[in-house]
Amino acid sequence: MSEHNLIFLGAPGAGKGTVSKQVLAKYPLAHISTGDLLRAEVAAGTELGKQADTLMKSGQLVPDEIVAGMVRSRLTKEDTKPGFILDGFPRTVAQAELLNDALKAIGRELKQVVYFKVDDEILLQRLTARQNCRGCDAIYNKLFKPSKVEGICDVCGSQLYQRSDDSLETAKNRLAVFYKQTSPLIEYYEKAGLLLTIEATDSEEIMAELVAALEK
Ligand code: AMP
Repeated sequence: MSEHNLIFLGAPGAGKGTVSKQVLAKYPLAHISTGDLLRAEVAAGTELGKQADTLMKSGQLVPDEIVAGMVRSRLTKEDTKPGFILDGFPRTVAQAELLNDALKAIGRELKQVVYFKVDDEILLQRLTARQNCRGCDAIYNKLFKPSKVEGICDVCGSQLYQRSDDSLETAKNRLAVFYKQTSPLIEYYEKAGLLLTIEATDSEEIMAELVAALEK
């Protein structure tokens, strides 16, 4: 089996994180979410976290070199050997170029870039109704996938919370940032012959399409 080195590309709320979890239940891949890595830095109160915090709160991107550096170091870890999902990285063409260099340096290649295509209206509804678990990182949605007991995780019983950048104003800003800075990557990876576009409304359908592509 060749390495399943994947990028999940899509606007915030497109379902990259949710589908990543489903893929990880089936394939032993490393999940590299730059958003999660940055939130861990913020929570730990590191210098990097302090720098990232203000930008993240307003929905702006953290500088390319910082995120690329985090990914470079994460890619040296043993658990990435069978393959990895880059979730939320790259988000600019400059980051894509930095990723190309990093992969070349360690003799690895991308297998596929999966673009999760979703209408803006649905994205905003999903983002502003999203709830995350404090205990196990499960993701819910008040409208589309509510927990059985309001505010409590079905899996581990911990409290659910709303990410501070999922407020309507910041969510709108994050979408604008996606179209301006990240969407050029769709053409970039299409030209590289790596793009797989999935109309991403139903996560089970997405999973079926993804598995078919990965087993090819
Ligand atoms: P996410 O969890 O992927 O929605 O990311 C949350 C926030 O983290 C984004 O709105 C950015 O502020 C920051 N972030 C995550 N990934 C990147 C990236 N690849 N480049 C720049 N900023 C990022």
